[in-house]
Amino acid sequence: MSPKIYVTDSVLPCPRGAAARRLMGMKLTFDMKIAMLFGNAIHSYLKKKARGHAEFPVRADINGVTVSGRIDVLGRNVTELKVISPSHMQWIVKNGPEEHHLLQALFYREILHTDKPVSLVYLTMPEKGLPREREIIDTPYGTATMHARGPVTIFTMESPKSVKNLLVERARELINALNDLNSARIVPSWQCASCPLQDKCPALREVGPFVII
Ligand code: SF4
Repeated sequence: MSPKIYVTDSVLPCPRGAAARRLMGMKLTFDMKIAMLFGNAIHSYLKKKARGHAEFPVRADINGVTVSGRIDVLGRNVTELKVISPSHMQWIVKNGPEEHHLLQALFYREILHTDKPVSLVYLTMPEKGLPREREIIDTPYGTATMHARGPVTIFTMESPKSVKNLLVERARELINALNDLNSARIVPSWQCASCPLQDKCPALREVGPFVII
């Protein structure tokens, strides 16, 4: 039987790293663990305060692949919350949402088989100089409205493109990687920073901003 695929693994850019993380766990420095605990605490608090069902479980068999996960908040929208550093927030407002965050929300929407809009909510510590902007931006999956106001930036997509084929493709690639780690594709990215294979991986590592969640 094929392993169950979690949405949080399927959105990672490197299939070999994603499979290794699932099989061996993440490799985290002390600072990363502290940042993660801090981010998780804020994340849990916000989910309790949000309107809608927090930690809503989803699961579906799509084209023979079982995919599952938990939506941060399911209400009028499919909402994902991300706690990030102030410098990462500046980057997000300038460059748009991180693709793997956007995909996570879009994959949940696909599994739910709903036409609800998707919201990606980024939060950071209050800090002077954080941007205030409202903008329509293009993403690979359709148009998003960005509302940036100090420590909160929200991207909302009313009718994103279908990502069903991409979800199945990612899930199948991950199943193959879990079965044969050595022949899985490697994609250097921010993911390398916590990859259990980082000491052995031949790939060039280009580690970007660290995401607390
Ligand atoms: S170190 Fe980076 S490129 Fe290599 S397997 Fe891990 S995540 Fe992938």
